[in-house]
Amino acid sequence: MNVMSAISRKAEFPGLVGADGQPWHYLDTAATAQKPQMVIDAMSRALGADYATVHRGVYSRSAQMTLGYEAARRRVAAFIGGREDELVFTRGATEAINLVAYSYPDKRRVLLSQLEHHSNIVPWQLAGWQVDVCPLTTDGRIDLDAVEAMLTPDHTMVALAHVSNVLGSVLDARRAADLAHSVGAKLLLDGCQAVPRMPVDVAALDCDFYAFSAHKLYGPTGIGALWGRAELLDALPPWQGGGSMIDRVTFERTTYALPPQRFEAGTPAIVEAIGFAAACDYVDSIEVASIVRHEADLVAALRGALAPMSDVTLFGPEDSAGIVSFALQGVHPHDLGTILDEENVAIRAGHHCAQPLMDTLGVPATARASFGLYSDQADVAALVRGIERARRIFA
Ligand code: PMP
Repeated sequence: MNVMSAISRKAEFPGLVGADGQPWHYLDTAATAQKPQMVIDAMSRALGADYATVHRGVYSRSAQMTLGYEAARRRVAAFIGGREDELVFTRGATEAINLVAYSYPDKRRVLLSQLEHHSNIVPWQLAGWQVDVCPLTTDGRIDLDAVEAMLTPDHTMVALAHVSNVLGSVLDARRAADLAHSVGAKLLLDGCQAVPRMPVDVAALDCDFYAFSAHKLYGPTGIGALWGRAELLDALPPWQGGGSMIDRVTFERTTYALPPQRFEAGTPAIVEAIGFAAACDYVDSIEVASIVRHEADLVAALRGALAPMSDVTLFGPEDSAGIVSFALQGVHPHDLGTILDEENVAIRAGHHCAQPLMDTLGVPATARASFGLYSDQADVAALVRGIERARRIFA
């Protein structure tokens, strides 16, 4: 499938129409992606005609739904090149990272980077790890030379964003894995922003844990996944107790189910799992490589339009993946966001849940445009027009 046919997918997203019926230039896909009709339909069926609980029912509808839920696990695991017994459904990337931070048995030192999302900082702090932080290169990438210099045998975990949600910088994950493993540490990748915009194969990356959320991958909110190597998941004790995660319960002693069920206490997000799998089908039907090219073209067009503007600062590397952060001199990002909203252009303005990165950049906030497979050059043009209007208003 080529880039043009990726663009023509726009009509499949009912959310891309503004309240006034006009096109809505949605440039906040890094926060959450709009949903294709196919995902909405799959969830609607699961919530309607197919609905029943999973794992417990003896009647056929429940048995059918259990098959659907476990097929969804297989589908999501396959999407990142993993095995189904290595794929835990969580509430999202945040819960997936918390699970590892709390349950990993050897909690010593974790090495993070300055560009991490709060969800890849705070869980490690709360769970009592000693946190070390590696710097960024001048163009906003995780500095892997610094990682190499900082790692010690006392580090048991390295946890890094595969793609930065603010700068769009892409990690050389394979090298990060080699570095972590060279001191005996494990590598957890926060794949939230990578799975929607590049092919991900956990085996090729050689990582140990991979966390991501369905809602950034054109799927529903309320569900995400933790992939982990089988032998590592096996060594993790349960972290939440309840139904479905047990083998045998008595008041004296309880034994637990094998992974992944061991980490899925309670009735799971059944309908969301079906939607998650449908989203994987949808993205695969387009071919991720064409999404990569498509978003790279949009990033190049936006950076190309903004670079000559002397009052605009661009953050992050030129080859950022689908995400462009910038500042317009004399206009607070929130004001810019409000002015753009009047033009049916939706961007994100703020610290993007990455306050330590804002401190590093020396700004309280940035404006951020982020693309999806449905974004097009008209969205870029509308954003550039809006920036020019904001400049005139604040002149
Ligand atoms: N990591 C990154 C890089 C993100 O962009 C986000 C969402 N903004 C998260 C983690 C957290 O994801 P969620 O809120 O879906 O758990």
